[in-house]
Amino acid sequence: MTWSRRDVIKGLGLVAAAAVLPSACSKSRRVRLAPVHVSRDRVLRTVVGLRPFRPSGFVVRSERLAGQTIVHNYGHGGAGVTLSWGTSQLAVEEVLKSRDTNIAVIGCGAVGLATARLLQQRGLSATIYARELPPNTTSNIAGARWYPFDVFDSAVATPEFLAALWAVSRVSYAVFRRMLGPEYGVFLRPTYACRSEPFARESLLNFDSPIADLLHGLRDMGTDESPFPHYPIVRTFESMMIEPATYLAAIIRDYERAGGSIIQRHFVSAAEFATLSERTIVNCTGLCAATLFGDVEMYPIKGQLTILKPQPEVDYLALPPDLYMFPRKDGIVLGGTFEHHVASLEPDLAAEARIMSAHARFFAQ
Ligand SMILES: Cc1cc2nc3c(=O)[nH]c(=O)nc-3n(C[C@H](O)[C@H](O)[C@H](O)COP(=O)(O)OP(=O)(O)OC[C@H]3O[C@@H](n4cnc5c(N)ncnc54)[C@H](O)[C@@H]3O)c2cc1C
Repeated sequence: MTWSRRDVIKGLGLVAAAAVLPSACSKSRRVRLAPVHVSRDRVLRTVVGLRPFRPSGFVVRSERLAGQTIVHNYGHGGAGVTLSWGTSQLAVEEVLKSRDTNIAVIGCGAVGLATARLLQQRGLSATIYARELPPNTTSNIAGARWYPFDVFDSAVATPEFLAALWAVSRVSYAVFRRMLGPEYGVFLRPTYACRSEPFARESLLNFDSPIADLLHGLRDMGTDESPFPHYPIVRTFESMMIEPATYLAAIIRDYERAGGSIIQRHFVSAAEFATLSERTIVNCTGLCAATLFGDVEMYPIKGQLTILKPQPEVDYLALPPDLYMFPRKDGIVLGGTFEHHVASLEPDLAAEARIMSAHARFFAQ
């Protein structure tokens, strides 16, 4: 498209008119969004996963065990996809200290895969061993919005942990930004967080949050432009969505193209690691690290998602209080359950009904 001088002057005139006549333009300013159709007949499936949560935050450290170096990289809570590249970079720095070149990675979720790829990129040979492979990992259940949330308990986490968290968040964010597009299933989407009360002091959506600059365009919408005018506060920003099915498959493809292999194997105890030929092992077993290594601090937070039939016209995220709606190629994801210390993978039909009806009310408004 080319612009003539006349068009530009005309455009400037409109901008000036908008500045002096806000009420005249208020109707045309309102953001119109395609509504999500929430009904029983649109439900494709309801899935459950367990977030590997540690109140003091994720673990990245190494230890010696029976002549092997074990580098831990687990406990990412509700943000394992989000943080995967950042914590894995820290884990790889630990691996490099061992000077080994053949490395075993236990786990084939988002964290194990990021670790394996980074090892390859540093010129090391990585072999993945895992009990379950995508699409059967917790990482496949994730929403998955880039957002370093539900990773620690503020009553317990240290300032050192928080500094590490914000640093790895940035590293990970930068890696995902380089993957934007359909090949890796990483997309930028406008997001609307709706509230009746001000955001909590510790919310990452506050303007002074440590990641505010990564939530591009973060601002409160005027009531004349808000797509959800029944909420007094509608904060908008750009979210990065990582579609797990596409993303995990693409990383496995990259890993295998670079010569990596995946061996399906279940380790009943950490002592079984001694049977591996590799002397340096990265433990990316998510929640299972609690039993393998006796980490009594880690516990599950059960989360349930209901997936509705896809609606390609819905290209935004909505975050009503205690709920979330993510649009994906494989469907509309409705979520909002966080059950601490619940280890069941059984879908909760009452929770499904509650999430469905709350979203139905939200979109009916
Ligand atoms: C409902 C829900 C929504 C979520 N939404 C988001 C989101 O929007 N954004 C986000 O970033 N995160 C989200 N998460 C969190 C995210 O899913 C987890 O933090 C992440 O999957 C953890 O990744 P991981 O690779 O550590 O573990 P996993 O994906 O669980 O992978 C662990 C791997 O280790 C293997 N393993 C385990 N034990 C053994 C063993 N003994 N022997 C051999 N192999 C073993 C497993 O088979 C698997 O391959 C969500 C989680 C849930 C449940």
